[in-house]
Amino acid sequence: GRDTTWSVSAGAVDLPQGRGVALSFEDVTAVEEAGAMRRDFVANVSHELRTPVTALAGFIETLRGAARDDPKARERFLSIMEREAARMSQLVSDLLSLSRVEQEERLRPTGKVDLSNLTLQVAALLEPVAARDRVRIETRLPDVPVWVPGDEEQLRQVLSNLVSNAVKYGGADREVVVELGMPGAQPELRGQGVRLSVTDQGEGIAAHHVPRLTERFYRVDTHRSRAVGGTGLGLAIVKHIVSRHRGRLRIESAPGQGSTFTVILPVA
Ligand code: ADP
Repeated sequence: GRDTTWSVSAGAVDLPQGRGVALSFEDVTAVEEAGAMRRDFVANVSHELRTPVTALAGFIETLRGAARDDPKARERFLSIMEREAARMSQLVSDLLSLSRVEQEERLRPTGKVDLSNLTLQVAALLEPVAARDRVRIETRLPDVPVWVPGDEEQLRQVLSNLVSNAVKYGGADREVVVELGMPGAQPELRGQGVRLSVTDQGEGIAAHHVPRLTERFYRVDTHRSRAVGGTGLGLAIVKHIVSRHRGRLRIESAPGQGSTFTVILPVA
């Protein structure tokens, strides 16, 4: 990976004419890495799409055959098919979002967003989903607008992905807290930008998984993630949007102690 590449070009500095060679070597490595990542990605996408398609094909066959004259079974199979179709549609829309944010990553966002207002909107939007699991979304906001330079739709997606994860993985009958901290509100954080944190009281994440959560299709528990309707792309999208906004994403979690996802964004 990256470390190997670095040691190769650093070692080459001692060689009289080695530098150019080492640089082109590094380029080749980067190109090969990009190629391998693309192949992995295509393989992952194909696998993720094939799973629901196979399920749908299987159920269609069952509906034509065994379940044909059993209205109860038919209804049950149709609900599963509906869910699988929704999953596919979510996957395709997440793929489109990811490709869009990757393309735009180098372009600075031009708009201006009030995070306080955005947080209220997202919380209201996700309240019905949370209510199904008797989860309460609590917002802790300063009572003034909190403006940051940014793309409103993309920051809405960041918040919505983080809050819906907290609802999905936070456990039923619990609370999700969305807190917006102004820069300088705490002396030790002065000058660090606006902090937007989403905390849940769920089962938490073991330390070795944490650095990998923002990889595309990485999931701690594939079955669990599928069951709650996850695509494995949510945090990858968050990472790219935050990086486009010159921000940072911090994940604090421990098994049994819930998780906090914090986005730190520079102010104007
Ligand atoms: P998914 O669509 O699977 O939720 P994400 O990219 O949003 O994909 O998240 C990747 C994985 O990180 C999830 O599958 C889950 O295992 C883990 N995860 C994300 N948010 C939380 C959370 N709040 N608590 C526990 N695990 C989480």
